[in-house]
Amino acid sequence: MTLDDILVEINHAEKIVIMAHETPDGDAIGSMLSMNLALKKLGKEADVIVREFPRTFAFLPGAKEVKSNSDIEQYDLAVSLDCADLKRLVGKEYFESAKKTIVIDHHGTNMMYGDLNFVNPVSPACCEILAGMFEYFDIEIDSEIGSCILTGIITDTGGFKYSSVTPETFEFTAELLRKGVNVSDIYQRVLETRRKSNFELLRRAMNRLELLEDGKIAFTYINKKDEEEVHAETGDHEGIVENGRSIEGVRVSVFIREKEENIYKVSMRAGNGFNINVSDICYIFGGGGHPRAAGAVVSGTVEQVKEKLVKEIKKVI
Ligand code: AMP
Ligand code: MN
Ligand code: MN
Repeated sequence: MTLDDILVEINHAEKIVIMAHETPDGDAIGSMLSMNLALKKLGKEADVIVREFPRTFAFLPGAKEVKSNSDIEQYDLAVSLDCADLKRLVGKEYFESAKKTIVIDHHGTNMMYGDLNFVNPVSPACCEILAGMFEYFDIEIDSEIGSCILTGIITDTGGFKYSSVTPETFEFTAELLRKGVNVSDIYQRVLETRRKSNFELLRRAMNRLELLEDGKIAFTYINKKDEEEVHAETGDHEGIVENGRSIEGVRVSVFIREKEENIYKVSMRAGNGFNINVSDICYIFGGGGHPRAAGAVVSGTVEQVKEKLVKEIKKVI
């Protein structure tokens, strides 16, 4: 499968739908919006399915065009972005009924669930894959498309600081600067701006943070009750897990967030300088992700989930 095959499918399709993983982050949102803008340049109309849109990304071009559902029962083409498996895909009903499906992703744990799968596990962001793809398709990356792509790159690299960053990451960003994109403004908006509710959640999570196993594991959590009390918005939990990781000596930072009663979404990060693959740990629990940032869903009370996770983490630290 090559990029040309993807272009053939796009050219053949009339009704196209674009989607990404649940609780979308900057890379998921940036990928969907940039894909939609790029398709317009190819003369195509597409629907973008998003059910929880973090307000942080509302400034991006095309953010207002997204839909939570569509009337179209069968699309000619469905494009899944930044999503390793079908079970985490929002709008999977449209994906499953589409005539053709394409998966574009950068997770090493991708299940290759599309008819065409374009997966590059060493790319720092799905958005960076798209940047290369659009260039290959001769689609001009204007400041609108560039802003969406940059959002995904900045958020998935923690602001250019993860080891996943490539020379192309900086070359692409330099090119956008030359085109007049306000890189600093996008950076400040997507990484350096906290809503008050986000800060309040962080404060609670930090108060509860425990250092386990001689300080090698950082663990903290947030319950539904916390989110209600601080009037949390979509996306307010993003970034909490990073705080545990930055503590000296921490090899694995764990943050769990109550999804439903006694069901927790786990976020795991590997500490800097330690050769630990958190994706492998999350895989044991049916999740996955990247070597240094991964997630899963685990059931039980906070204490039970903590115990299950620590038992597995202990084996590898
Ligand atoms: P998060 O902790 O939610 O920011 O996720 C970290 C990374 O792991 C992201 O690349 C996610 O896409 C991936 N990930 C999170 N949860 C899961 C899961 N349940 N299954 C597979 N991958 C996941
Ligand atoms: Mn993502
Ligand atoms: Mn991503």
